[in-house]
Amino acid sequence: MLFTSGESGQTDFSKTTAMTVRKNSSSTMKLSWARYDLELCHTFTISGFSRKTTPVVLTKIEYDGLTGYGEASLPPYLGETQASVIEFLKKVDLSAFPDPGGLDEILEYVDGIAVNNTAAKASVDIALHDLAGKIDGLPWYKRYGLDRADVPDTTFTIGIDSDDVVREKTLEAMGRFNILKVKVGGPDDKRMIEAIRSVTGLPLAVDANQGWKDRLAALDTIYWMKDKGVVMVEQPMPKLDLDNISRLTEESPLPIFADESLQRLADIERLKGVFSGINIKLMKCTGMREAWRMRRVAEALGMKVMMGCMTETSCAISAASQLCSGMDFADLDGALLISNDCFDGARLQSGKIIAHDLPGIGVLPNQKINFAH
Ligand code: MG
Repeated sequence: MLFTSGESGQTDFSKTTAMTVRKNSSSTMKLSWARYDLELCHTFTISGFSRKTTPVVLTKIEYDGLTGYGEASLPPYLGETQASVIEFLKKVDLSAFPDPGGLDEILEYVDGIAVNNTAAKASVDIALHDLAGKIDGLPWYKRYGLDRADVPDTTFTIGIDSDDVVREKTLEAMGRFNILKVKVGGPDDKRMIEAIRSVTGLPLAVDANQGWKDRLAALDTIYWMKDKGVVMVEQPMPKLDLDNISRLTEESPLPIFADESLQRLADIERLKGVFSGINIKLMKCTGMREAWRMRRVAEALGMKVMMGCMTETSCAISAASQLCSGMDFADLDGALLISNDCFDGARLQSGKIIAHDLPGIGVLPNQKINFAH
């Protein structure tokens, strides 16, 4: 691991940023936003849901001639909407803060505006991180002390579908990805894996999205999957069924990762011993500041970590890519699953999503976005 943090396990970037910024104290931060609808390349089916678009809200914070970009991605099953995000953003008053340097102070304030609204909070957090990085002239992976050479391969997600579509999606992924993620959790699990195996021998991650209800049946399936080259399992059983998940993790030959069972930093400690690892997603945990802390806490507890995503533009994906070097897994294919990405940023290179070397989160809009206040 390549970290530069001190004994506390927390790197305090806010002080250095504040010192740099306060030379220009005449500017104020201006927050604006834009609705945007992501078009999915394929209808996306996971255990229980199916959809063709994902609504997002893009954010922009301007300060002293610089612009930070952020994003809230809003898959319908998570409860936030474009309207709820904009209602939240209208309450964010950055005029009380002299500059973007005091990230901790500002983001504590944003978190305290209302409960939940985690994607809305992430849209402010990401834009502020982008801005702070631009002020210091550094991409965040460097500020975290990470090396892009340690980025794990990203998984590429194959949704639940017919054998023909599964084979077609698998063929699309060949030569571009080194690991695939298969959505399972129902009666089609073995059929899906067999369909993929008829095309490729690449390692597979599986995500049951809480779909397995019986622990012993799940364990049998996991053993079968291990023989088929599956290397990890995400959220095998319902999120609150921690007793059964804990026993499953103990008995499983593969590591078991928490996704739906976990939202934020405060959830991690109770999951030690229940899961082997956690899936950190910016949209669930309010953004980069908390995601970084979650990573450090999980590692200190001896748990594995992965960086996940929703369907998102390259804005939020680039933010996530800044954090993922040295993690056990990355699931950052969100921008590759859409046909109308409005940002250039982190790119797929040899099966890995690699952050751009630009300062901040490393993104540029590739079209005009109509931000309004
Ligand atoms: Mg998942």
